[in-house]
Amino acid sequence: MARLVLDDVTKVFEDGDEEIVAVEDISVEIPDGEFLVLVGPSGCGKSTTLRMIAGLETVTDGEIRLDDAVQNGVRTQDRDIAMVFQSYALYPHKTARGNMSFGLEEATDLSDAEIDERVTEVASMMGIEDLLDRHPGELSGGQQQRVALGRAIVRDPEVFLMDEPLSNLDAKLRAEMRTELQQLQEQLGVTTVYVTHDQTEAMTMSDRIAVMNDGRLQQVGRPLELYHEPTNLFVAQFIGEPSMNFLSGRHENSTFVADRLQYPFPETVADAVGGATDLVLGIRPEDIELDGADGDSAHEFEMTATVVEPMGNQNVVHLAFPGETEGTEDLVATTDGRQRIESGATVTAHVPVEAIHVFDAESGEALY
Ligand code: ATP
Repeated sequence: MARLVLDDVTKVFEDGDEEIVAVEDISVEIPDGEFLVLVGPSGCGKSTTLRMIAGLETVTDGEIRLDDAVQNGVRTQDRDIAMVFQSYALYPHKTARGNMSFGLEEATDLSDAEIDERVTEVASMMGIEDLLDRHPGELSGGQQQRVALGRAIVRDPEVFLMDEPLSNLDAKLRAEMRTELQQLQEQLGVTTVYVTHDQTEAMTMSDRIAVMNDGRLQQVGRPLELYHEPTNLFVAQFIGEPSMNFLSGRHENSTFVADRLQYPFPETVADAVGGATDLVLGIRPEDIELDGADGDSAHEFEMTATVVEPMGNQNVVHLAFPGETEGTEDLVATTDGRQRIESGATVTAHVPVEAIHVFDAESGEALY
C-alpha cells in the first residue's frame, strides 16, 4: 500500500532578497495505485511539487507523507520512490542492462542472479530484451525511454514520479507509449504522479487530474469531471481544445446581457447565479449547434461564420455577431465534419441551456 499525502505543502525559494513562492498550500491525497496527472501552465510549480515528493527539494512548510510516514527530511535515496525524467538521464557508458540494474546494485542486497532475473523480466515486459547489451547511444529515443522506464520499474518502488517522460518522442511513438505506459501502471498498480503539458495525456492516462496555476491547486478530479464541471474560469479555459468560449456580461432580470447578445436563463440557472451581477458565460465549442432546427428561438442567434477550418472529422467554425468589427470573433464552434458550412455564410447558432457554464466575473468561481 502506498498512499501519498501532501498536506498544506509550500515551497519558497530565496533568490537574493527576493522570495519566490513556487508552491503554495497544496493539499492532495493520492490513494494507493492511483495515476494522478499534474497539469498547469509553465512555471506554475509542477516540477517543484514533484521534486519535493522525490526529496530533491526541501519543503518550506507543510508535510509530505507516504502511508502516514512523514517524508520531510528523508533523503531521496531512502524514499521508496522512482523518478522518470523527460531527458532519459541514462548513463552513456553503461549498457541498457547496466542502466537498469545500477539502482538495484546500489540500494538492495539482492544477489547478482536475482538482479539479472528481475532486469530480464522487466525488459521482456517493456519489449527491450534484445537491446539489453546496447549502450544508450545505440538506441532510438523511444528505446532509451523504455530503458529509463524499465529502470524505474525494476526498483519496484511504492511511487513513480514522472516529469514529462514522453515529451521528447515524436507524435506517433508518444501515442503508442501513452497507451503502453497506462496499461503498465495499471498492471503494476504503483501510485503515480505524472507531470505533463499534453492535454491528451492528462485526459486519457489519468485516474484524476490536478490542475495548478501560480503555485496553487485549482481543482482535482476525474478528467470528465474537470471537463464538465470546472470549478473556476482557469480550469474551464485550461481543459479542452479548442478552449471553452467566454462572453462577459451582466445578470439582469434572469437574463444574461452582453453587448451583442441576450440569453434568458432558465430558473435553475437564475437561482444558482443569485445576486451576482458581473458574469462570464462559458460555452464549449461542441455544444454550439449550427443551423439545427430546435425551435428554441430564445437561445438561437444569427451569426456570421467568418472562418471555417475543415479538419476532416470536424469543422472549426469561427463566428461573429452581426455588426461585429471586422476580424473579431465572438465564438468558436466545432461541428460534424460532414456538415457543409461556407466561410462568410450567415448561420443560426443554438446554445442549449443544458450546456452553458456561468462564472462570477470577479472571483472567477463557477456559479453554474
Ligand atoms: P514548466 O512547465 O515550465 O516546467 P513548472 O510548472 O514545472 O514549469 P516549476 O519549475 O516548478 O514550474 O517552477 C515554479 C516557479 O518556481 C517558477 O516561478 C520558477 O521560476 C521557480 N523556481 C523553480 N526552481 C527554482 C529555484 N531553484 N530557484 C528559484 N526559483 C525557482
